[in-house]
Amino acid sequence: MITRRQFLKGIAAESAALLLTGSLCAEAFADDAAGAADAPASENAGRDGITVLGTRGSLPVSGKDFLRFGGATTCFLVRMDGELILLDAGTGMARIPKDVLSAPQISLLLSHPHVDHMQGIPMCPYLSQKTANLSVYAAEHGGLNTESQILAFFSPPLWPINPTMMPGKSIFHDMKEAFRIGDVLVEFMEGVHPGGVSLFKLTGSRKTLVFATDCTLTDELRPKLQEFAEGCDVLMIDGQYSDDEWKGRETYGHTRWTEAARFGQDCHAACVKIIHHDPNHTDDDLDAAESEAKAVCRQCSFAREGEIIPLQD
Ligand SMILES: [Zn+2]
Ligand SMILES: [Zn+2]
Repeated sequence: MITRRQFLKGIAAESAALLLTGSLCAEAFADDAAGAADAPASENAGRDGITVLGTRGSLPVSGKDFLRFGGATTCFLVRMDGELILLDAGTGMARIPKDVLSAPQISLLLSHPHVDHMQGIPMCPYLSQKTANLSVYAAEHGGLNTESQILAFFSPPLWPINPTMMPGKSIFHDMKEAFRIGDVLVEFMEGVHPGGVSLFKLTGSRKTLVFATDCTLTDELRPKLQEFAEGCDVLMIDGQYSDDEWKGRETYGHTRWTEAARFGQDCHAACVKIIHHDPNHTDDDLDAAESEAKAVCRQCSFAREGEIIPLQD
């Protein structure tokens, strides 16, 4: 196991490159409380809800045009029935709230191993805690089990360390069928995306959440996903493109926001959150897109980094 000092030294060069992407702040490397220094506030501590740590798709972005919806890639922290569950491990994972750093257990559900959904893992301050236990769940992708996907991703010369070398403990699970995290039932189904993607349903004692990132609503998939998501309390769904942008991108593995909103309406979701915002879309673009989506489905809005989506009455 490496020390915190060795770990920080090892990432020094890479951090410069990451800073250029704009999603990780310099303060994250300033001291031994790295990453937690200006992490999102913990006003939701102890209350069920979803903290949006990152909701950008494909590539992190930064700058004055991306302040309201945020630039970090996909990562959400779900607090449900006493459990802490991360959905994906994009660059937003580096901004995990301070109040969960001492948690004895956090679970991580990975939809698929694309860069924008994995890049945050070695920069997550939770794994810098000796007391940390991160249980990572994923389906097989490209013939690789969960641990192999992560070790393939974080290996020299692309990255100097992997999660098993960090002070906190990582435990890898290969998803085969529905399972439980405490009282939360986790179900999953296959979506339509290059290389495959897992779409998740989390059912707690009071609320149900469906997480459908990086997925095209094909004619074949749509009825299956509608049955899966029917009546959920929160539907988080990929809506990366406008109707115009969709032309020529039908095979990219994403969805139009108007179609995502219509789908949310059709499956009677109480709250529909569009996620995986295109890196080319500014705050103003996303405001306009949100208005379009709301015209289709009143309970639809676009996720904003730092927002907390309630999971309670
Ligand atoms: Zn993605
Ligand atoms: Zn993807």
